[in-house]
Amino acid sequence: MSAQVIIIGRPNVGKSTLFNRLVGKKLALVDDQGGVTRDRRMGDAFLAGMPFTVIDTAGWEDDDPETLPGRMRKQTEVSVEGADAALFVIDSRAGITPLDEEIARWLRQQDVPVVMVANKAEGKAGDGGIMDAFALGFGDPVPLSAEHGEGVADLFDALWPIIGEKAEGGQDDGDGDAAGEDDEDAPLGPLKLAIVGRPNAGKSTLINQMLGEDRLLTGPEAGITRDSIAVDWQWTNPANGETRDIRLIDTAGMRKKRNVVEKLEKLSVADARRAVDFAEVVVLLLDATQGLEHQDLKIASMVLEEGRALMVAINKWDIAENASSLFNGIREALNEGLAQVRGVPLFAVSARTGKGIDQMLGAAFELRDSWSKRVPTAALNRWFDDALEANPPPAPKGKRIKLRYITQAGTRPPRFVVFGTRLDMLPKSYERYLVNGIRRELGFDAVPVRVVLKSPK
Ligand code: GDP
Ligand code: GDP
Repeated sequence: MSAQVIIIGRPNVGKSTLFNRLVGKKLALVDDQGGVTRDRRMGDAFLAGMPFTVIDTAGWEDDDPETLPGRMRKQTEVSVEGADAALFVIDSRAGITPLDEEIARWLRQQDVPVVMVANKAEGKAGDGGIMDAFALGFGDPVPLSAEHGEGVADLFDALWPIIGEKAEGGQDDGDGDAAGEDDEDAPLGPLKLAIVGRPNAGKSTLINQMLGEDRLLTGPEAGITRDSIAVDWQWTNPANGETRDIRLIDTAGMRKKRNVVEKLEKLSVADARRAVDFAEVVVLLLDATQGLEHQDLKIASMVLEEGRALMVAINKWDIAENASSLFNGIREALNEGLAQVRGVPLFAVSARTGKGIDQMLGAAFELRDSWSKRVPTAALNRWFDDALEANPPPAPKGKRIKLRYITQAGTRPPRFVVFGTRLDMLPKSYERYLVNGIRRELGFDAVPVRVVLKSPK
């Protein structure tokens, strides 16, 4: 059975939004007016590739949601007893309310590990609330923006030590199709590729250029939401004549079908979000005449936070001016803006002429290979021993922090657990040292890597 995670909190803190993020549903399911039909919901969640079952308790409130007894009784009825972890969500902008405190008191009496989530923490607006949340006594709150998708990696880091073992062990979710699944021994299927980017970057043109006359099969695929279209297609690599299967997730076409005018920003981020649910590799398409904007970095970060392999392609290269300084400028901005990886693969392409596309696709397959790679245990241990010897962990107050061993807990994306004692004393800088070493020396440069520290029970 897969690990169960229950979302708890007073109304309006963002439980449904978080639920939708975790299961990859459309944001449109949440509306500002309230009154959306709300049932108890369970869903299959993926967090940075880790599968689990998530239970949303939104709507368990009484008619008057601010009366506590009814709420608590109902929440107790469904009981957190079966859950492996509870996400206790507060609104970090609103701060801690009396109702939050009551829920906290109640949760402390339950026998379930609690992860405190300080939602609505995008920007700095939630800083005060995050401090207050600490006082509730469930440890460090995880600052999150369920709506904007920020903080997902931190949520993973908090949850994984609790449910990781169960999640990695019992991950047969039965559909066999979602990306990020850890079926390592199975041969890699078609490359699941999504093209995302701002409107007019050239996504539709690129897809049409790629498929050309070779369009083999079009149509909605089972297991893919009704808005996304998957196109299965065979690509022949001119570099070596090999033919490979690619499943292209078409988010561009779907956007054009909408009849409502939405804010552009919201739209392309939402498209990207949906695409990453299905994709192994995500290509962020830029427009050479527009350059790299803040929103592009936001989409890129989101892709990486979701644990997907990311590449960036600068389109319309046929009309690019000052090509080499443009390329270098974008290269630099990506290095600075995306701390999660070292060197995102960057390509110059023209959807119009087709130039650069085959190289980009060849690289996409390579990127998926490293995203899916398992480091042999011996090599991993050798690297770990060398890393500790070259730079031993510090000894705060004379007590040495012991790092005992490392294992690779998963792939797609690569996930590692470092076991040791007194880990709470380990400086962040040392953690970064380990993560950088894994990336650089074990061949994970361009893919997001997760590392979690854990004390043996
Ligand atoms: P629930 O009652 O706890 O399920 O809360 P909802 O998920 O319905 O969210 C309540 C409101 O908060 C909605 O208007 C959401 O759009 C908004 N919301 C949810 N998450 C965030 C977030 O991360 N940031 C901001 N600013 N608003 C959010
Ligand atoms: P989407 O909104 O991302 O799907 O963008 P479209 O594919 O609709 O392209 C937007 C505009 O850019 C169209 O006018 C395209 O003809 C143009 N365009 C797309 N790719 C290229 C390219 O490689 N070179 C040039 N010069 N124009 C392009």
